[in-house]
Amino acid sequence: MTSAASKADSPATLTHFIGGRFFIPDGGEFGDVFDPATGKVAARVPMADLDLTREAIAAARQALPSWAGTPPLRRARVMFRFRELLEQNADELARIISSEHGKLHDDASGEVTRGLEVVEFACGIPHLLKGEFSENVGTGVDSWSLRQPVGVCAGITPFNFPAMVPMWMFPVALACGNTFILKPSEKDPSAALYLARLLTEAGLPEGVFNVINGGKQAVDALLTDPDVAAVSFVGSTPVAEYIYTTASAHGKRVQALGGAKNHMVVLPDADIEQAANALMGAAYGSAGERCMAISAAVAVGEAGDRLVETLSPMVRNLKVGPAGSRGSEMGPLVTGEHLERVRDYVEFGVREGAALVVDGRDVEVEGHPGGYYLGGCLFDRVNEGMRIYREEIFGPVLVVLRVADLEEALDLVNRHEFGNGTAIFTTDGRAARRFVHGVEAGMVGVNVPIPVPMAFHSFGGWKRSLFGPLHVHGPDGVRFYTRLKTVTARWPDQGPARAEYTMPTMG
Ligand code: NAD
Repeated sequence: MTSAASKADSPATLTHFIGGRFFIPDGGEFGDVFDPATGKVAARVPMADLDLTREAIAAARQALPSWAGTPPLRRARVMFRFRELLEQNADELARIISSEHGKLHDDASGEVTRGLEVVEFACGIPHLLKGEFSENVGTGVDSWSLRQPVGVCAGITPFNFPAMVPMWMFPVALACGNTFILKPSEKDPSAALYLARLLTEAGLPEGVFNVINGGKQAVDALLTDPDVAAVSFVGSTPVAEYIYTTASAHGKRVQALGGAKNHMVVLPDADIEQAANALMGAAYGSAGERCMAISAAVAVGEAGDRLVETLSPMVRNLKVGPAGSRGSEMGPLVTGEHLERVRDYVEFGVREGAALVVDGRDVEVEGHPGGYYLGGCLFDRVNEGMRIYREEIFGPVLVVLRVADLEEALDLVNRHEFGNGTAIFTTDGRAARRFVHGVEAGMVGVNVPIPVPMAFHSFGGWKRSLFGPLHVHGPDGVRFYTRLKTVTARWPDQGPARAEYTMPTMG
């Protein structure tokens, strides 16, 4: 079994994975997958059309009754085996992620661990699916609630976490008894195929998990097909909104996580060196291509000058290079197109009058002239009206805004259209409490720059960072991937003496 077929000296051709079979379609469209470190085409990916997507849905539909009827304990055992395989192959999976995404190997390893933790959460599914029981809700009447799988679920995922984001979804969906179709990003699809291999080795039956590669055509088929019951999406806000409205209009339950502009508020009492170190990792780690990256620092009062003075040399000295090279602190951006987009934003910032304190546009990486590299960029004196503040850039560009006090900082954060994550750096407990209580965001850090919830809590934003009521993984994940059923039962000695036409009450 292979997830890619390659000929010597030509890029590998990737596959789909449907009904337990990895295959390259005869004909149809193919896209290019790049190695961002060199700019060369690394693989060709098949782009699923309507018929192929329907084939995947049919395979998932066929596998559903038997998998949904498998006791949760046995489904959990498949997850336990999958977890072992993931751990054994974590290094290889991290290598695959880096080769198509460009992030550093250690960063990719961290991504794998975060995904593995969701698998560990899903291993507890017999406990998580326990219902509620009320004895004697009326005389001789008992009532209980239970959770059953929703059916065929689809996951549509972004390029920036090609293993972790799919693992936010499918371990919980599968453990709950659903079957799953994953449509990963066409920019770095190999990690998804590798996960399919590991699930197969773990003993997951054919058709329970499927991977279709492709773009809008495949997604639209998933959003409108009556046999798909639930759609989980993670990606940019315009697409998240489209996914939410289209899939909801077709009667599906939807959770669609969108873009972000995460603020970190730095109060004058904060340890500025600590705050600057935290900002470096949060703003420039993974080249800023994280939905929880801090892309806006809000400096309160006299924190501003000290923060910018401390940050500037650190940003200037950031070591940019390929994922595999020792000493690299930041890898390339994912594609040439994305690099151009981020460079355009830097230009907008300059034209809008922000102070470009560090300009990373001239960075050169020896031996990699075609790679998609950009050095760290730092803007100061940014204001609320500027595009570099209003819009998500998704690159290594940090903007600093200055405000007079905490209330002004809170109002600023709360006026932004996004509300994914946010953080405050301070030594004042009362100020931290005021911020935690009043800020409009789904995930909040206190002296923690990237407050990503652990797998046993749920992950999600507010405002235009999430469409739909439920977050991913943790308790909300179980709620999303199950339907609640409440039973009321009585075993009378004899039937009712006469027909009752009033609203039934117990007692
Ligand atoms: P994207 O929205 O371009 O693509 C995401 C997925 O949607 C991909 O699988 C893609 O093939 C598909 N897609 C793209 N355009 C489509 C269209 N018009 N119709 C149907 N499907 C379409 O996002 P991306 O560039 O891959 O990822 C980066 C974005 O994801 C950023 O905005 C980032 O903030 C966001 N993100 C958010 C979270 C979160 O938790 N909120 C996590 C990771 C990434």
